[in-house]
Amino acid sequence: MAKPDDLIDVAIIGAGMSGLTAAKRLREGGRSVCVLEARERVGGRLKLGRLAGIDVDLGGMWIGPTQTRLLQAAETYGLRTYPTHLEGRNVIRLSGRQRSGRGESAEEVLGLFGGLEYLRLMGQIRGYAAGRSLTDMQESPSLHALDGWSVAAWLDRHARTASARAAIVFQVRSLLCAEPEDVSMRFFAFYLASGGGADVLLSAGAGGAQNFAVEGGLAQAPQKIARELDGLIRLSSPVRAIIQDEHGVRVLAEGGDVRSRYCIVAIPPTLAGEIQFEPMMPHARDLLCRRMAMGSVIKIWLAYERPFWRDQGFNGFWMADDAPFGPCFDVSPPGQSIGVIVGFFDALHARIWTARGAQARRMEAVRALAQLFGPEAEAPIDCIEQDWTREQWSRGCYGGFAPPGLLNASASSLRQPVGRIHFAGTESATDWCGYVEGAIAAGDRAALEVLAA
Ligand code: FAD
Repeated sequence: MAKPDDLIDVAIIGAGMSGLTAAKRLREGGRSVCVLEARERVGGRLKLGRLAGIDVDLGGMWIGPTQTRLLQAAETYGLRTYPTHLEGRNVIRLSGRQRSGRGESAEEVLGLFGGLEYLRLMGQIRGYAAGRSLTDMQESPSLHALDGWSVAAWLDRHARTASARAAIVFQVRSLLCAEPEDVSMRFFAFYLASGGGADVLLSAGAGGAQNFAVEGGLAQAPQKIARELDGLIRLSSPVRAIIQDEHGVRVLAEGGDVRSRYCIVAIPPTLAGEIQFEPMMPHARDLLCRRMAMGSVIKIWLAYERPFWRDQGFNGFWMADDAPFGPCFDVSPPGQSIGVIVGFFDALHARIWTARGAQARRMEAVRALAQLFGPEAEAPIDCIEQDWTREQWSRGCYGGFAPPGLLNASASSLRQPVGRIHFAGTESATDWCGYVEGAIAAGDRAALEVLAA
């Protein structure tokens, strides 16, 4: 561990997947590092909890088959995956129309007219981002104009059927945990494209982002990386200030300062905005940190003696645009008799239900499941939840999103180094922004930048 007057190569702020990945790469490149972490644990938005005798993910949990870096990490650390259960009928209610079926296609869910309109709108959104990264998007006048629209305003202008509109509002809520009036249309288009499109991001089926969960939890991954970095991570050390000059960087953290040649800030822009920088960050970066908001989400797990809904032909998937609880999924682990449902209160619902307390949320989740699957749902054997809106060192989740106008001012500041300070964290990723895959990619990129410097 670095002592206050030691000069190390790189100080890394944040021991989430991004900061840990950067530390690992730099170590492999022969550089000395120190990771400063505010919490008393590593992992950040990956966190384990205990449900009915098994470890479960209270934060990020799923791996999609196109997330190659994360799959590689899972293999390296011996994590075993299992598919989200999809056999049987899901239940979806959008725009007042409830249906129970097996498919995920737009026509099946929205009916013929709604489905066609949805496909038209999604084609238009795809077109905005086609072949461009978020930073490149800044160079096009038409995309500059797009950043002036919130998703809600864009839908008011372009959507012709209520059901297609409801489907896209649902996407904003469940993917960004934000309300459509708060999110820039340009950011939304970028976000969908960065993960391979809405069909990939929304799906738990083959190819989808919710395809696989990890036995014992994905949050084992940062714990295993941390073991490799033994002695190089300082927990309970929130960073308060970063001072740089032409000779190096001084990081002021609780528990002692660190002197380094370079620094990687691997935390969301919202939290980076709370660190005092000397000299001050350029205006575009400062704006980014002040205006990029975090989503609102509460994740809840319920365990039952057995997955009884499967007997009735249900696969456990439920979502509705007018219900506080949902979407939810059957993620019962293999080789166990228990049935496990994981679900979310997101966006507006998280903002409302955070104030109501854990007991009320549990009752609401149980009520919703009982309405769907019958009275057996009223007797879970265990329940655990995590309210991410109340986490001081996340300040909401799953990730950051840009309000209208912000990307036009600040898109390039997401990852442009400022002197000796480099930026990682999933919010700075071009691919899989907001996901663990993006966090790993950003950590890798920042480490390479520093190695090249
Ligand atoms: P973080 O994990 O946020 O790490 C940043 C670290 O910096 C934290 O440990 C924090 O404590 C620390 N920190 C902050 N400020 C300071 C400071 N001033 N000084 C020192 N340390 C500081 N992704 C997926 O891929 N699949 C999913 O299924 C999925 N589901 C999710 C569900 C939920 C409920 C949540 C919350 C997230 C989910 N995500 C999912 C998103 C995923 O967890 C994140 O994208 C990823 O973990 C972000 O990693 P990171 O390293 O960029 O940031």
